[in-house]
Amino acid sequence: MSPSKVSTIKFDEFFNVIDGKNRSGKDKHQGINPVSGEKLWDLPVATQQDVDDAVVAAEKAFQKWRYSEMSERKKLLKKMKDHYMSYADEITELLIKETGKPRQFAAFEAKGVAGWFDHHDTLDLPEEKVEDDEKVITTRYTPLGVVGAIIPWNFPIVLSLGKIIPAILTGNTIICKPSPFTPYTCLKIVELLQEVTEPGMIQVVGGSDALGPMLTAHPGISKISFTGSIATGKKIMAACAPTLKRVTLELGGNDASIVLPDVDVKKVAPELVMGAFQNSGQVCVATKRIYIHEDIYKEMLDAMVEFTKSVKVGDPESGSLLGPIQNQMQFEKVKEMFADTKNKGYKFAVGSPDVASGKGYFIQPTIIDNPPNDSRIIQEEPFGPIVPTQPWSDEEEVIKRANNSLSGLGACVWGNDLERAEKIAKRLEAGSVFVNSWEKPTPQALFGGHKESGIGGEWGKEGLKAFTNPHVIHSYKMK
Ligand code: NAD
Repeated sequence: MSPSKVSTIKFDEFFNVIDGKNRSGKDKHQGINPVSGEKLWDLPVATQQDVDDAVVAAEKAFQKWRYSEMSERKKLLKKMKDHYMSYADEITELLIKETGKPRQFAAFEAKGVAGWFDHHDTLDLPEEKVEDDEKVITTRYTPLGVVGAIIPWNFPIVLSLGKIIPAILTGNTIICKPSPFTPYTCLKIVELLQEVTEPGMIQVVGGSDALGPMLTAHPGISKISFTGSIATGKKIMAACAPTLKRVTLELGGNDASIVLPDVDVKKVAPELVMGAFQNSGQVCVATKRIYIHEDIYKEMLDAMVEFTKSVKVGDPESGSLLGPIQNQMQFEKVKEMFADTKNKGYKFAVGSPDVASGKGYFIQPTIIDNPPNDSRIIQEEPFGPIVPTQPWSDEEEVIKRANNSLSGLGACVWGNDLERAEKIAKRLEAGSVFVNSWEKPTPQALFGGHKESGIGGEWGKEGLKAFTNPHVIHSYKMK
């Protein structure tokens, strides 16, 4: 194992990685570049045999890794970080190809993930002791075994390494399954990590949606760490029940943003727009409903419209702020939301009711002015660059409106009166509430949803515990 960059990694050939080796396969599939619509490189479709072999290798590696000390694990993570970062430019190029993200944001994701390594280096799960006259009770946090990581297409790097890092730090081994829409970065990251890790510790299998159920059903896998839609999350939970696998489910959201009347409109308007439209709205914690106090409603909406008109949408090299929708399936879903909004006669404050068809899955950011509460655009997560605004006047009522959702992932409150803003924040039913910022998940804090937005959470110290079994020893003193 060499930590240096002298390696055989090629960035135009892709493999599943099982037991430390690249593995090809009979059947192939390809991702699509959403900017051009062109097919990208061939990828092998993993089979049940590939999954079975990966589980055997992961179990074998686990038998050694489970007993490693925290210091050894951190040393390995440091090596992994250095090795990964030496390829961050190449990985950025792959991310641009598979997602169409503007270059600056692709680089931000590919390089910013270093922060996940760095923060985890500061975390520990020390033993906890309680003692009385007759006994000492010691709680330790022991690894679970083989973790299956099921990953969506919107942030393929952060959501792969964001599972790999805590799994390895807690003494587990891990098998990743990227989304069929964005497999390239995950496959290549796992491949290059083989140069600094033992076979079986970190593996990857890619293919169709049929692969997920092979992981959730597998008796050799102890936990599924899933990020994706609520609908798939429910299927995963059901599929994990027969083997009582641990599950962490990071699911969709319908985040509300409440804007108090005392804000500086000019400063906050661009922030609200970016909170809604970052990554073209394809973010689980994007702002998806904006409630603006009636005293500043018109002024704020006008300022948001003006800023939105200045947002450049285009290909990754054009200096654009927003790229395309990542795949055709999602493009069609978002177009359907536009069609429903148009057909119901809701008011487009900015953006066109008719999504232009042309090369690439591009959609101009769009704001819908005061649609009714029961509209689809208020009730559903569009996962695209379209957001509704509504006025409010009564604080109690707007808190109820914000909470009136089956989702509870994130929320925001904007106000100069911090005490008032935080008081409202405490009453919002969501896993992460941001005051005077749009939603910015960080490795420093647990990230997870309330209600149908998920079960459990990842990142931060609590997130680390989700990769462990508490193990309690009650040790009695001999009389
Ligand atoms: P998705 O649920 O369609 O797919 C996610 C992953 O699950 C993919 O790898 C897919 O192949 C796999 N999968 C599909 N069916 C499966 C099954 N039956 N069993 C096991 N695995 C299966 O989600 P998506 O379209 O890739 O991502 C978009 C959704 O993800 C949005 O709803 C978004 O809000 C959510 N999301 C949530 C978070 C979060 O942290 N809470 C982050 C990003 C995205």
